[in-house]
Amino acid sequence: MEAIINLAYIAAAILFIFGIKMLGKADTAKRGNLISAWGMGLAIVVTCINPDFGNKFLWIALAFIIGGGIGAFSAKKVAMTGMPEMVALFNGVGGLSSVLVGWAEYVRVFSAAHPDAPDLAAVSPEGTLTTADLAPHFSAFTMSVIFLAVFIGAVTFTGSIYAWGKLSGKLGGSAKTFPGQKAFNALLLLLTVGCGVLFPIFPDGQTGLLLLSLATLGSLLLGIFGVMPIGGGDMPVVISLLNSLSGLAAAAAGFVIVNNVLIVAGCLVGCSGLILTVIMCKAMNRTLTNVLFSGFGSTQSNQQVEGEMKPMTVDDAYYVLESARNVVFVPGYGMAVAQAQHVVKELAELLEENGAEVRFAIHPVAGRMPGHMNVLLAEADVPYEQLCEMDQVNPTMELVDVAIVIGANDVVNPAAADDPSSPIYGMPIINVHQARTVFALKRGKGAGFSGLVNTLFFRDNTRMIYGDAKATIAGLVSQFKDK
Ligand code: NDP
Repeated sequence: MEAIINLAYIAAAILFIFGIKMLGKADTAKRGNLISAWGMGLAIVVTCINPDFGNKFLWIALAFIIGGGIGAFSAKKVAMTGMPEMVALFNGVGGLSSVLVGWAEYVRVFSAAHPDAPDLAAVSPEGTLTTADLAPHFSAFTMSVIFLAVFIGAVTFTGSIYAWGKLSGKLGGSAKTFPGQKAFNALLLLLTVGCGVLFPIFPDGQTGLLLLSLATLGSLLLGIFGVMPIGGGDMPVVISLLNSLSGLAAAAAGFVIVNNVLIVAGCLVGCSGLILTVIMCKAMNRTLTNVLFSGFGSTQSNQQVEGEMKPMTVDDAYYVLESARNVVFVPGYGMAVAQAQHVVKELAELLEENGAEVRFAIHPVAGRMPGHMNVLLAEADVPYEQLCEMDQVNPTMELVDVAIVIGANDVVNPAAADDPSSPIYGMPIINVHQARTVFALKRGKGAGFSGLVNTLFFRDNTRMIYGDAKATIAGLVSQFKDK
């Protein structure tokens, strides 16, 4: 039976790896997600049939049904723009489960070492058992991984819940700081890790219990105070980092209960989360340290903006588009908010019928998570060959007749290229300002995610088309259909 279980765990691990690989491309991502889910389903079913668990499998099956039900319901209900919040919550519960696994194993080991003790607190460190008696129970390795599962899991839990609160606007999006915050966090980290170092040395009795309790409390506080000084704007990066931590916590929990599939799955999540974090930072041309400690978004450029924003009506925009031969759409977060992807696809088809070459330029951090725009455009069945990456489209931008910026702001801000005093200076952008004409679709004069003024909107070749992006594009579609 053990051989069958191990083989099934290997099969589950292979499904995870293939699934994750397939997530790398938009056309295989959906299938990749399903394959990974089947891998996880297989791992759970095999765990249930493990004879070691006796009739406890009923509890696992019940948790599977309740947890799976909640997961499926919330995944169906969540809006695309709410995805980062949902990922934050999932990371948080992942972290919490590692904390519970760590504690459950400690209680089990403790009870095995003290079969007569009525409860944990009643056991005295000066009891009758010697260190040698306890050694087989409290191995230094097991105690160390218990601490790691609890430490990383608890930081992930409270950090993710706090990040969710910021993203959803329930805790205010701005960075919250107080004097001496960095020193306070460093001290908290030192005390928590200190407890973790002492715990495998004194794992038994009230000392062990106290050390693990203090480590848990310190880790829970660290999660909150670590995320508190980070601006809401940088939350997606933080969530990706917490995702990586939730994987590492699961891997530690896998070592605690000696479960290979949990170790493999945890390591895969840990590594992929870290890679995603690095990709996000690179795409913003920032370091992780800058994201975590700089309070990004609190400063403005000192360059004076000249000119004014020039509005244009949908009717006038139609006449410009009607004669355009080369059009590039640049979607951003506003397209996700407006859910305009389907009408955008319709407009693209009408432009093609009218003889224009149409492309979509995708910035790697447009929207609120990597691949956000690809997912939306795939949902609207925009052909993959029309999707261009930033590096592909930028060299051809001067040949573009009209660049239609749909609710994108920071990712097309020329200040990133030409204003060294701008906080986003150096961030790669889509050079729409080099196109002959730019249409900027947004509801008002508000700034983008970074809070910075966008000099693109003041340029001579830019026309502002105010209003909800979906309504504006729908207006253009009906103009094409009517005329
Ligand atoms: P921005 O958040 O910079 O701007 C979005 C724009 O959309 C706003 O100017 C807003 O203007 C407009 N908008 C909002 N709702 C609508 C609507 N219904 N109709 C029309 N317009 C609308 O978006 P970008 O995609 O350009 O930039 C993404 C930002 O997120 C970058 O700063 C990036 O660094 C950051 N980020 C992205 C991550 C990722 O992985 N994608 C991760 C971390 C950060 P108005 O209110 O006037 O309508």
